[in-house]
Amino acid sequence: MPPDEERRSRADIGDQAQLVRERTAREAMLQVLSENGDQIERALQRLAQGTYGSCEDCGGAIPAERLEFKPEATRCVSCQEARERWGATGA
Ligand SMILES: [Zn+2]
Repeated sequence: MPPDEERRSRADIGDQAQLVRERTAREAMLQVLSENGDQIERALQRLAQGTYGSCEDCGGAIPAERLEFKPEATRCVSCQEARERWGATGA
């Protein structure tokens, strides 16, 4: 295989890998959106109402680092954990 050809096929493999990575990221994003769509919707509503960043259960402030990690969070960690223990995730 001439050097040119070889370089091109390696680039193709790189392109394929890139495509797979992009598709995987998109599917992961869609998965997150379909699972958390309601919660993201509520987070956006709270943003519009000016109550974003306070827990919808206890009214306490949600730590900024939690919002940074999970921008759709509408509850503080302890209320969310309590919900999850009761099996009512995202409800
Ligand atoms: Zn709370």
